[in-house]
Amino acid sequence: MMQQTRIETGTAYWHGFLERWPTIDDLARAEEDDVLKAWQGLGYYSRARNLLKAARLVVSSHGGEFPKTSASLRKLPGIGPYTAAAIGSICFGESVAAVDGNVIRVVSRLFDIDLAIDSPAGKRAIEQAAETLVPTHRPGDHNQGMMEIGALICKPKNPTCGLCPLQVHCTSRAAGTAKQRPVKHGKMTVKEVAMPFVVLTDGLKVAMVQRPKPGIWAGLWTFPLAADVHENLGKPNGPAAPSFTHILTHRRLYLSFELRVWSGPAGDASEGLGDSWRWVSWSEAEELAMPRAMEKIWSHAAKSAAKVYI
Ligand code: SF4
Repeated sequence: MMQQTRIETGTAYWHGFLERWPTIDDLARAEEDDVLKAWQGLGYYSRARNLLKAARLVVSSHGGEFPKTSASLRKLPGIGPYTAAAIGSICFGESVAAVDGNVIRVVSRLFDIDLAIDSPAGKRAIEQAAETLVPTHRPGDHNQGMMEIGALICKPKNPTCGLCPLQVHCTSRAAGTAKQRPVKHGKMTVKEVAMPFVVLTDGLKVAMVQRPKPGIWAGLWTFPLAADVHENLGKPNGPAAPSFTHILTHRRLYLSFELRVWSGPAGDASEGLGDSWRWVSWSEAEELAMPRAMEKIWSHAAKSAAKVYI
């Protein structure tokens, strides 16, 4: 919950989850739709889905007891090497390195590693070097200390080496290469994607579609995509819709919508759009779990629809 989220925001969600599903058995029995709805606003919905899958697996395969080693934790959905090592070391005292972005930077500087961290050889070198540092006594505190040094002292642009408890051991400080570490090769490419939607409404009800799995926003609800509606109901002749930009990790989305007033029977409009389609009241639609991008256009869409019918 806390990744990519402010702690104050995440904390409220955390308490909300615990109130609603106090034990792992309660969570394992939850409906996916309810979990997604409770997660709404935190983004990265695959985490919510994985949380539910992991709870179910802990109940079905581990007798309801959380696994205690990083190797077994890694087998749970949504738990990668970093999280597994963090839980293993902090919660269960396992001597294993938790290597996140901050720790990568500290280790690459401490050992002056000049291999690119986005290459397999660079990753291996960082992980191996990080493992050599982990003590058997209080490994969780060590890992948290490394993360804190990375966050507060060994910063990306201006490391404050004079305050650093590692300064006498630091190879890149001695070599004057700290600012060139870590080395990175590739730049992440961001794909630009246009996503026009249709707000199809008869005034009281509006068409919503559950996104297929796998894929972007899997299991969440959006207005139907324009391409699907146009195929069934023809092209629009109304004015161009306002557009909104929404940035995801690897994609920049250009979202827009057109308002289409529907006066025929609901069944005719949904024909050919499959089982994922639902024709619901505006207030029911608001209760569905939607991606944050859809929330951006929601109030504009609702206002445009209201104007037509008032
Ligand atoms: Fe980072 Fe400087 Fe500390 Fe080295 S001495 S780990 S470069 S802050």
